[in-house]
Order: sequence, then C-alpha cells, then structure tokens
Amino acid sequence: MENFETDYILNHLGEDRSNWMHSASPPIFLSSIFIYPDLKSMKEAISKESSMPFYSRGTNPGLSLLEKKLAALEGGESCLLFASGSAAIAAAVCSQVKAGDHVVCVKKPYSWTSKLLHTWLARFGVESDFVEGDETAIRAALKPNTKVLFLETPNSFTFEIQDIEALCRLVKPLAIKVIVDNSFATPLYQNPIKLGADIVVHTATKYLAGHSDALGGALICSLEDREKIFSGEYMTLGGVMSPMNAWLILRGLRTLPLRLEKSAANGLAVARFLEAHPLVERVWFPWLESHPGHQIAKRQMRGCGGLLSFTIKTESPEKVEAFVNSLKIFMLACSYGSYESLCYPAIAAQDSSNYSNSPYPFNLIRIYCGLEESATMITDLESALKLIL
Ligand SMILES: *Cc1c(COP(=O)(O)O)cnc(C)c1O
Repeated sequence: MENFETDYILNHLGEDRSNWMHSASPPIFLSSIFIYPDLKSMKEAISKESSMPFYSRGTNPGLSLLEKKLAALEGGESCLLFASGSAAIAAAVCSQVKAGDHVVCVKKPYSWTSKLLHTWLARFGVESDFVEGDETAIRAALKPNTKVLFLETPNSFTFEIQDIEALCRLVKPLAIKVIVDNSFATPLYQNPIKLGADIVVHTATKYLAGHSDALGGALICSLEDREKIFSGEYMTLGGVMSPMNAWLILRGLRTLPLRLEKSAANGLAVARFLEAHPLVERVWFPWLESHPGHQIAKRQMRGCGGLLSFTIKTESPEKVEAFVNSLKIFMLACSYGSYESLCYPAIAAQDSSNYSNSPYPFNLIRIYCGLEESATMITDLESALKLIL
C-alpha cells in the first residue's frame, strides 16, 4: 500500500497532462505574471492568491505541482516551496514567534538553523535554548513563553535521534508547535506529521533534487498554517523557489525511491566496513546496532540513506589531511543526497590553532555514499586508511 501510494504520488498526482498538450513532462511556467481576460477573473485571482496564479512570488503552476506531491509524501495537508532549505526553516520558525517568546531546539542543529535562532532571532527578542533531545532535557528546558520545539532527527553530522512521537505528546497540551527538520530521512523514510509534528521542513537541495544542480526548500504543514505563512513570511520575505528549480527538483523526485535505496544500501555496507576496521575509532550511523538512537530510529524511520561519520585513529591533523586528500571517489565538498560520493571532514571548518573549540573532534570525517558501487567506495577508503598507519 505504502509503495503504491508513493508510486502514484510521484508519477500521477497533480499531473494535468491533458492541459499540457499531453506532454509527459510538465511545462515550466517561466512567467512572473498571469494575464486575466476580465476584471471579474482578475479579482478572483487576487482574492485567492495563495492558490491561484496571479504573480509568481505567490503561486506558480509548476510550484503547485511539486507542493502537492511533497505534501502527499509527508502525509501533510499542504506545502510551501522556498529558494533554499534555510529560507523554509526561517519562515517556519518566524511564523510561530514574536518578541518575548522562547524556542527550545535540539543541540547541534544544522549550522544556519543554529545561527537563525542564536544570533538572528535574538536580535528581535526571541530567546532560544539548545538542549539534548531526550524527554527529560526537553521538559526541563520548557518555559511558560516557549512557542516552538525545533527538532532535527537524525541531525546531519553525528545523527542524534529524537523520539518524535513522545516529544509531540509532551508539548501538545502546552500549545507549543513542533517543527522537524526532516532533510536527512526524506519523506520516504520518515513522516513527522504522522507522528504528531506540526511543521516539517526540508532542504530540497540534497536528496530531493539529487543532482547537485538546484537549491530549494520546502515546508509541509496544515492548510491553516499555510495560509498564515503564505501571507506572512512567504510573501513578505519573498524567498520563494524559482519555477526552473521546481522543475529540476520534481525531476529529481521521480527517481528518489531508487536513489535512496541504493545510497542507503551503500551507506550500510560502508558503515559496517568502517566499524570493523582497526584504524577506525568510532562510526556514527543510525542503522548500526551500535548507534545510541538505533532503537528509536528503527521504530520511526523506514530507512537511513547514505550519510555517515567516523573518527580515524590518529592524534595528527596532518594525517587527517593526508587521508582526505588521498580519496579518489569521495570528493571534498559539503552537502549530500546526490549521485556522487562526498567527504566533509570536521577539520575543514575548524580553527587549526584550537581544535578543542569545536563541538566535533578534529579526526571526525563525514562521508556521503552516493550511487557508485559500495565496493568502489570501500576500496577508496581502504587505500586512504593505509596512509594513517
Ligand atoms: C542543507 C541542510 C539545510 C539547509 O538547506 P539549504 O537548501 O542549503 O538552505 C537544512 N537542514 C539540513 C539538515 C541540511 O542538511
């Protein structure tokens, strides 16, 4: 049933092919404005700007198609698309707070989410606390003015897991909105709204687009919240997705089940290889039995993707540098979720005069296992590991 629904959504839902001259692929509406034949229809479009094309900062048919699919995949009522994941996150949080309010966020969220809460919203009188993601720590952090609980499970560096259902149950009676960054798991492997969350946010730049060619973000929520966010942050701040990127992301989405399955199988094979290697200290991957959040992950996720981290056994930053420089398949870059395998060592963003300043050890390396064969990746890692002997 689940697969039938996903297949239906990806290839059929919202595809208005008889209106597209029977084109299999949807047209790209590269139009900033829409023309109406008379005043009556123009007035109708203005009054329904959140769902009818009038001006492309509001509604564009290509975006509406992608919105429909992402909302359905998440099991939510509606969706809004943004120029980036960060724009979607900012709109989601800002829509729920005003000066004097308080946000509880899990420790070590995506770096720009941290900056949004810690630095940017603080300027407008919104306070945030960053705490561990277990029930006890979250309960202790709640204040009478807490309006948002922000979760990111798994997070995208050391993959801490939060129990979405339990935390939603905890804060629901307090009228606190739960926002979940679901970028790591994608709508195919985890559906926070079905577990009680109010708003799900995604970067569409990673797995959803899947080809390292488009930036985008999405926010999935109730129709009521969509109306509120549309006339608030969406239209006012104006950081909306372009029609071209919506088309690229929709094209990527069509192959997401296949890409994710391959990347997840590669991730697990590589994680198991690394865990057994004598020169590897520790591996972080939610699908390994050794991961602290493994049990909750297995309960609330259907799969895990190809992103993982590990520390190599060395005291020397130069050895970390030699290791990452010698990789041939894993290319040095940020991001994840596309066809190509990537490597992002923590050391890349650390101050070389003081590694202890960072929340991550200097020998931590994040890799993304893309769509090559896992044996190719393992060969690459194995040769590089020889360098730290
Ligand atoms: C990349 C990422 C974002 C930000 O998305 P952009 O599209 O780069 O703005 C947010 N959350 C997570 C978990 C991410 O990996």
